[in-house]
Amino acid sequence: MIASLAASFTGKLLTDPADTTSFLTDWRKTWTGTALAVAIPDSVEDVASIVRWCAAHDVAIVPQGGNTGQSGGSVPRADGQNIVLSLTRLNRIRAIDPANNTMTVDAGCILQTVQEAAAEAGRYFPLSLGAEGSCTIGGNLATNAGGTAVLRYGNARDLCLGLEVVTAAGEVWDGLKGLRKDNSGYDLRDLFIGSEGTLGVITGAVLKLFPAPAERATALVGVETPQAGLALFEAMRAKHDTALTAFEILSDQCLGLVLAKVDSSREPLTARHSWYALVELSGSDVREGLEVSLADALEKGMIGDAVIAASTAQARDLWALRESISPAQAADGGGIKHDIAVPVSSVANFIDEALAAVQVVYPDIRPVIFGHLGDGNLHFNFSRAEGTASVDFARETAHLNGIVHDVVRKYRGTISAEHGLGVLRRDEADAHRSPVERTLMRALKTAMDPQGIMNPGKLLP
Ligand code: FAD
Repeated sequence: MIASLAASFTGKLLTDPADTTSFLTDWRKTWTGTALAVAIPDSVEDVASIVRWCAAHDVAIVPQGGNTGQSGGSVPRADGQNIVLSLTRLNRIRAIDPANNTMTVDAGCILQTVQEAAAEAGRYFPLSLGAEGSCTIGGNLATNAGGTAVLRYGNARDLCLGLEVVTAAGEVWDGLKGLRKDNSGYDLRDLFIGSEGTLGVITGAVLKLFPAPAERATALVGVETPQAGLALFEAMRAKHDTALTAFEILSDQCLGLVLAKVDSSREPLTARHSWYALVELSGSDVREGLEVSLADALEKGMIGDAVIAASTAQARDLWALRESISPAQAADGGGIKHDIAVPVSSVANFIDEALAAVQVVYPDIRPVIFGHLGDGNLHFNFSRAEGTASVDFARETAHLNGIVHDVVRKYRGTISAEHGLGVLRRDEADAHRSPVERTLMRALKTAMDPQGIMNPGKLLP
């Protein structure tokens, strides 16, 4: 059977386990599946041929980009009746239109390559996240990725004007429009964005570009409570409006973990504080603006201390503290994670309430709470109590998820803010959908993928 797949397209087909293993396990090594083969096409026509072959043979397709997803969406099921469709060889920058401020790219382009191509053209592509050296634009769009600049520029959905998609029937939909206004019917682009490979295979995209910011100013600020962090955010937003590009928060436990586990990390402030905000402004003359705002906040007693990066290298070091939290937690034995969002105005209350609810049941648990405060998105994570075994802690996952997610629902939040549902949050999300929403979701899936071959078992049960 696989011989006929090999004959149906001109790209690479891997079947030897030595070659396919890395495509069958996710980044965090949480999920592993099996596949008949890994197909790595070279062209959109190749992708369409593979999808048509899968439809004819009733074989499921698992689209895969950089395989950096956090919810298991890019990993095939264990039954083996799957083809992993890797987009990594579709990696051309197709065109840049400086006057329209757009770039048309293949879906397999690495995010960092897209950022660099935009910079070479004197423009800026603002999507930025820890996996940017490995993840692909197709994966970013399929998961509607967020990252560190959502506050100013929006998430992946907001940065995409058009898509090219191979449908579940193996047809190519050319929606590569670079339009900022287009009210011509149902928005197919928006349906495919965030669909985690369950409706079609994204093969190309038109991305929005922006003027490169003239200057960036980055500060790490010590505050004593999440409420103080939120108050600082409100003050900074009121004063700097869209120049406020990022507003991240991390607890002192996060900083402690990074300092303990990452050799290159250094104490950023002279004294420790309970919480820290990582603040970035971009635009013209922002450094002076940041200095004035933070001096004002210090004088009013809103913040405890602050350091403003004096160079690009120092700014990078401050961001490294934030980006190193997950690797540091992994080095410490991993933990139980949540990718939640609540309205920005509720972030501080949510932290207090959810933390209290967790600590009633697990008094010695070690919170590792950080995230994009300016977007209302927290990685509300926990490490096992000192002296306990990781394996015992892992058994508490469902219980701990339940405690945290109950508080999320109370605030009308979401249990998946930027990582997608994949298999990780699929069933819980579905269990809490209204019947109306569930019916609409299923109707869409059935209409666009009647055979159910597009990444089955992901996003929807
Ligand atoms: P994959 O992991 O390969 O796939 C993810 C999902 O998209 C799967 O369901 C897959 O089937 C589907 N898919 C992939 N390509 C296509 C395609 N062309 N067409 C259709 N479906 C497709 N996410 C954030 O939002 N914000 C962060 O700050 C962030 N930080 C991260 C930091 C690290 C260190 C890591 C490892 C991950 C982080 N992520 C973050 C997760 C993030 O979602 C992914 O890194 C990225 O968006 C996924 O891209 P990928 O190419 O690796 O997709």
